[in-house]
Amino acid sequence: MEPNVFIALGSNRGDRELNLLRAVAEIGKLPGTRITALSGFYDTEPVGPVPQENFLNAVLRAETSLTPHQLLAALQRIETDVFRRRREIPWGPRTMDLDILLYGDLILDGDDLVIPHPRLHERRFVLVPLAEIAPDVIHPCLGRRVEELLRDLPEGERVTRV
Ligand code: ATP
Ligand code: CA
Ligand code: CA
Repeated sequence: MEPNVFIALGSNRGDRELNLLRAVAEIGKLPGTRITALSGFYDTEPVGPVPQENFLNAVLRAETSLTPHQLLAALQRIETDVFRRRREIPWGPRTMDLDILLYGDLILDGDDLVIPHPRLHERRFVLVPLAEIAPDVIHPCLGRRVEELLRDLPEGERVTRV
């Protein structure tokens, strides 16, 4: 059985909605990959040190035969080739950011790839769309359901379904 992977999508430059739709279409075209769920789109206040426009965020679930590193490389190719994203200000504005949140129950701590995504559990803009499509999925390091992680998150930046 192929693992269920969860991918976070975010955009705060250009036509954010069109960007997300385009990214979903591109991920659906990856070899050996089938999208099986897509959250709603959420308008979210930016988090972190850089003042910038709100993001539009979503999460999708897919089945894939790509390895974690093949998937990361494929997502980075979409960011750079389709969206012309440059490596710019850390955590700054971008047309498209694609992060691997979960890859089945794999735990990986590499130099260039960490799974589960290390900040997944502290980000409302990730947990809200993830909880919409995967409330019962268990975070393999924390041993807790996504819905619980969201419930226990302190009030923070606003996340509004559009
Ligand atoms: P954050 O990781 O806090 O969301 P970011 O998405 O803005 O920040 P990027 O500049 O997009 O960070 O990526 C930095 C590096 O993170 C990438 O080059 C990639 O090698 C690495 N990385 C590690 N784990 C993951 C993961 N699970 N998904 C995507 N990239 C990852
Ligand atoms: Ca990110
Ligand atoms: Ca990223």
